Parts: sequence; C-alpha cells; structure tokens
Amino acid sequence: MIRNVLLAAARSRAVRAAVEAGPFDPLVNRFVAGTTVDDALAAIRAITTDRLVTVDHLGEDTTDRARAEATVDAYRLLLQRLADGGLADRVEVSVKLSALGQALPVDADKIALESARQICEAAAAAGTTVTVDMEDHTTTDSTLGIVRDLRVDHPWVGAVLQAQLRRTEADCRDLAGPGSRVRLCKGAYDEPAAVAFTSRSEVDRSYVRCLKVLMAGEGLPMVATHDPRLIDIARFLAGHHGRSAARYELQMLYGVRPRAQSELAAEGLRVRVYLPYGTEWFGYFMRRLGERPANLAFFARSLLTR
Ligand code: FAD
Repeated sequence: MIRNVLLAAARSRAVRAAVEAGPFDPLVNRFVAGTTVDDALAAIRAITTDRLVTVDHLGEDTTDRARAEATVDAYRLLLQRLADGGLADRVEVSVKLSALGQALPVDADKIALESARQICEAAAAAGTTVTVDMEDHTTTDSTLGIVRDLRVDHPWVGAVLQAQLRRTEADCRDLAGPGSRVRLCKGAYDEPAAVAFTSRSEVDRSYVRCLKVLMAGEGLPMVATHDPRLIDIARFLAGHHGRSAARYELQMLYGVRPRAQSELAAEGLRVRVYLPYGTEWFGYFMRRLGERPANLAFFARSLLTR
C-alpha cells in the first residue's frame, strides 16, 4: 500500500517539481551521489577502489525536447570527464529512454533512438559502454526495439529486463545470444497483474528462471539484486555453467548494502554499483523509499529530529 502511494508520487510531475525546486536534502545523499558531475566523480573515485560503476544522469518522463537534448549534453560531458579522469575502463553509463525523448508527444521513439545513439557514440569515443534502463511495462517493446537498433552499430549496448514481468523469461531467451549484456532486476514499477507477477515469491521464482536462461546463454549476465538468496543462486548457476568471475557481474545500487558489495568484491567477484546523480532525483528516490518500509521510517525519523 505505502509502496503504491510512493510509486504514484514518483510519477507525479507536480509533486516532483515542487520537491526538486527545494534544496538538495542531505538524506537523499544516501541513494543519490549529488547533483553535479563533480559530485558524481568524487563518489565514483571512492567506489572504484574495489568495484566497478554504472553512472546514471538522473532524469525521466521528459515531455520537453530541449530537456531531452540537455540530457544528451550532460552525458557527453560526463563521458568526457570519465575519459579525462582515466576512469572509462571501470565506469560505464546507464540511460533512461524517457529522459531522451521516449515520452515526447511526437516522434518519441525516433528522437529517443537518435539521442541514445549520440550517447553511444560519445561512450565509444570515451572507451566505455552504455546500458539502457527499463521503465514501466508500457515502454518495454519500444525500449527493446531501440536497444536492438543501437546494437547494430554498438553491439555492446546493454539491456535491462525485469523479472516481475510475465514476458521476461521469453525476452531473456531472445537476448541471451553471443555478445549480449543483460541486466536482470526484479522491477521497480507498480505493474498490473495482467502483465506482472504481483507476489514477492512469484517474482523471485521468475528471477531464478530468468537467471537460468541467462547463465546458460552466451552473453554477459548482469545480476542486479541485493537479495542474498538470489546472489547465492546466481553464483551457483555461474559455477554450474563454467562461468569464471569475469563472465558475469553482480550489480547493486549506490547506498544499498555497501558492505556486502565490498565483501563480494574482496572475494574476487565483479561487483558494479549503479550510481545516480543530478537534480532530477525525486522519482528515483521515491522508488528506493518504496522498496523498503524501513527506509521510509528512517527518512521520517530524520525529518522529525532535525
Ligand atoms: P528486494 O527483495 O527488494 O530486496 C532484497 C534486500 O535488499 C532487502 O531485504 C534489503 O535488505 C535490500 N534492499 C533492497 N532495496 C533496498 C533499498 N532501496 N534500501 C535499502 N535496502 C534495500 N528496476 C527497474 O525497474 N529498471 C531498471 O532499469 C533497474 N535497474 C537497476 C539496476 C541495478 C544495478 C539494481 C541493483 C537495481 C535496478 N532496478 C531497476 C531496481 C530493481 O528492479 C529493484 O527494485 C531493486 O533492486 C530492489 O530489489 P532487490 O532485487 O534488491 O530485492
């Protein structure tokens, strides 16, 4: 129930605009590395001592063409700074297509593809890769179509699949071929039962079925979860399919289970941290609060004790 309210707030343009217009709340810092590229680089430098990073310039549901273009420019700057800082071998970028034009009223897919292509070209020049985030189920076909188009020139472009969607096991089969990079997550959006599993146990069972397909496949599975049981299963399946630590990644969010991230890295596993930064942090932050009621209590307590 609380999760649904938070997810609805996350999609509300009015609430978002009001909250983001205020000062950057230090509480948000737990999940968001800051608002500027310098903030992001400082956090990246600390993490890359033992882990890899995928960095997200925050933004979503953009209905304004100029803002979509500004997002491309922000990624160009970020990628240039990563290259200049000698970080491109440990840091890639993640992008949301709805920040690049996918939510525009006219020519949405064409503009999102063109914008994503420009980011891929900048990433190639910097010597790194791009993974395209997955948003709610109404965008899945469009997003996978755009990833397919991008992969013609940039076969290293990564896709994200959400175990909560009923279609995902089949999508895993389509995408498990040679050279593919697939990040598997549970899914952060409130989805209807017609298209999604709605109980935790069903989502977890779907996650395991999808993992089996990806681990048996020929691509690079990127196992995005903080769930210790699923991480253990991923490690078991990797061993079962003869995958060395170099042939899959464990991925977690900035600020979530950081000690576990470092412990897994110390065991010699490839651990990548999803690190968001930027002024448009509200939707992302709300989804993180919704994932764990304790986060909400922590947030509320901190506000009350200021
Ligand atoms: P859960 O069952 O939610 O959590 C397992 C345990 O992890 C919890 O018990 C808790 O200890 C810890 N935990 C999980 N979340 C939190 C939190 N917010 N705060 C504190 N502790 C927490 N979703 C999408 O829909 N599209 C994407 O493109 C996408 N990209 C992602 C990329 C990465 C690298 C990761 C890690 C997640 C991504 N997600 C994405 C979010 C994902 O779908 C889940 O919403 C999120 O990861 C929580 O699910 P979980 O697998 O960690 O399992």
